[in-house]
Amino acid sequence: MPVVPVSDEISAKCICPGCPSYPGKEPWLYCGRGKSPQEINQVTCLCPGCPISEEHGLSMTFYCVEGTEES
Ligand code: SF4
Ligand code: SF4
Repeated sequence: MPVVPVSDEISAKCICPGCPSYPGKEPWLYCGRGKSPQEINQVTCLCPGCPISEEHGLSMTFYCVEGTEES
């Protein structure tokens, strides 16, 4: 399964901060870091349109709830 490394470069490309489901107050890049400890209001997920999703061949959504693809 794809592994997304946690780096400043990749974090800068993550579009979670613009997502209506993003809970705020914590680092994003959930596909690399794993799921959020916060309760997520699942409005929509922007991951399919994210450049990291394409670059790493990701196929899931809502990493903030589900965790990384390899978990
Ligand atoms: S796929 Fe989703 S969690 Fe991963 S970098 Fe893109 S927006 Fe962030
Ligand atoms: S993982 Fe998806 S649903 Fe969660 S904050 Fe990022 S773009 Fe939004």
